[in-house]
This record gives sequence, structure tokens and C-alpha cells, in this order.
Amino acid sequence: MSVTVDPKKWSEGRVVELYPWAERLYSLRVEADIEPFQAGQFGRLALVIDNELVSRPYSFVNAPEERPLDFCFIVIPDGTLTPRLASLRPSDRVWVARKGAGFFVLNQVPEGKHLWMLATGTALGPFLSILKTPEPWQRFEKIVLVHGVRTRAELAYQETIQHFRQAHPDQFQFFASVTREICPNAFHSRIPQAIESGALEQLAGIKLMPEDSQVMICGNPAMVKETVALLKSRGLTENLRKQPGQITTERYW
Ligand SMILES: Cc1cc2nc3c(=O)[nH]c(=O)nc-3n(C[C@H](O)[C@H](O)[C@H](O)COP(=O)(O)OP(=O)(O)OC[C@H]3O[C@@H](n4cnc5c(N)ncnc54)[C@H](O)[C@@H]3O)c2cc1C
Repeated sequence: MSVTVDPKKWSEGRVVELYPWAERLYSLRVEADIEPFQAGQFGRLALVIDNELVSRPYSFVNAPEERPLDFCFIVIPDGTLTPRLASLRPSDRVWVARKGAGFFVLNQVPEGKHLWMLATGTALGPFLSILKTPEPWQRFEKIVLVHGVRTRAELAYQETIQHFRQAHPDQFQFFASVTREICPNAFHSRIPQAIESGALEQLAGIKLMPEDSQVMICGNPAMVKETVALLKSRGLTENLRKQPGQITTERYW
């Protein structure tokens, strides 16, 4: 029995590259014909597994007009899709949803002076996509990107980040938080602890406060929950359709 894949929903993509950053951490670069999407949104990747089309959401790391499409993923050892994604080779077929989706985009973020972007693991992706567009640089005076990982090798896309640093030396700051290794120039605590202790703000030289901050948080649901609770205790509120606030989130599972 063969699976019928709806060509209106799915584009037949071809793998350009599977780039390994660290054990289990990859970037999958794909050529596929998809509709325009907004920076910060996610696409869907799918493979036929046991006669079924299995799909999962993955954030675009590339800017909307940039090709190939770029997705960063971590292999979940007993996961359904990710071990198969990690065995793809150049020119292999992978299905890509034609439409991007999601509201983790800058036009959902109200005005502010400072933009804080807090990511764990592969959730760095949507921030890089956003930072590759002109909008954040036009809208915010200061942008602070924080990437929380377990090991130094998981600090992916350092060249891209270095490029933002060089292009916007007074506007952009990057901080890493590496929890399972001692790494020079990185916090050795999780993101919520780096906020709670005041260490992040001290290094950034600006305060996380409701008057001038917008905070986007993406990734591990435990980190998102803890950080939101911490920010709420400082008077920031969640950014909802009906009631704009300062905290915009996306959870990966
Ligand atoms: C909006 C959105 C965007 C996403 N973007 C990305 C992305 O850019 N990169 C990415 O790697 N994943 C991303 N994910 C997660 C992704 O969709 C899959 O859940 C993940 O790749 C596991 O798929 P799987 O079939 O191998 O595992 P499954 O068999 O579906 O097992 C799922 C379980 O794996 C665990 N899990 C899922 N993701 C992670 C993770 N990143 N780290 C640790 N444990 C995890 C959770 O316990 C989850 O319940 C995103 C999820 C959402 C909702």
C-alpha cells in the first residue's frame, strides 16, 4: 500500500545538506517550493514511515527570502521522526508543508525599547530568522539574544551571531548559558536563574522591566513556564490578542 501525499499541502523537497553541530544536533537544509512565510514561523517536515505520513513542526532558521530552507533539530532517541531525519542524505526526499504557521512573529510583539530573545536549544532558530530581517533592527534600540544549551558544542550558528554582532555592535548583545560544562564567557546557570540573580541584566547593562522591555521566549516548556512566572513577578504581563503585554512565548513540546 502506498501513501497518497496531498500535493496542495505538501511540497516534495530535496535534502541539500544535513549539517552536524553536535551529537544529535543537526541543521537540515532543504530545497522545496513553499509559500511565503513570516520570520519566526514554523514549517512542517514529513516522511513516510510505516506507510504513514509522519509530520512535525520545525521553526524556519532561514529568513523568508533565503534559500535553502534551514531547520535545526535535535534527535529524540526514541522519537518517531527525528532519528529518520538524521539519516537523510543529500538529494533524499523530504516533504515540506507548503504553508508556514504560528504567531511567534514580530508583528505580534507590541512596541518597546528593548527586545529580549530567550531560547533553549533548537529554539534559537526562529530568533535567527527574525534577526536576519530588517524589522527588529528598525524597531528596537537594544536587542539581547540569550541561548541556553547543555554543552558548548550545542552553541550552533555562532558565525551568524557574530555577523549580527559586527553589523550592530551598539545595538546587539549575545549571551550563552551552558549548564553541563564550564564554558568561558557563558553563564553556568539556566536562563531563569541568570535573570533571577540579576546577572543577565548586569552584563547586558539594561533592566528587564515592563516600561521598556519586550520579551520573546521559545523552547523547553519548563524554561518558558519558569521564566514567564519570574517576569510576571516583576510586573510584566503575557502578550495576548485582547490585551497586549510584554511576554510572547512559544513552547516546543
Ligand atoms: C511550534 C513548534 C516548533 C518546533 N520547532 C522545532 C525545531 O525548530 N527544532 C526541533 O528540534 N524541534 C522543534 N519542535 C519539536 C518537534 O516538532 C518534535 O516534537 C520533535 O522533533 C520530536 O519529534 P519526534 O517525532 O522525533 O518525537 P516524538 O515521537 O513526537 O516524541 C515527542 C517527545 O519528544 C520530546 N521533545 C520534543 N522536542 C524536543 C526537544 N527539542 N528537546 C527535547 N525533547 C523534545 C517531548 O517529550 C515530546 O513529547 C517544535 C515544536 C513546536 C510545537
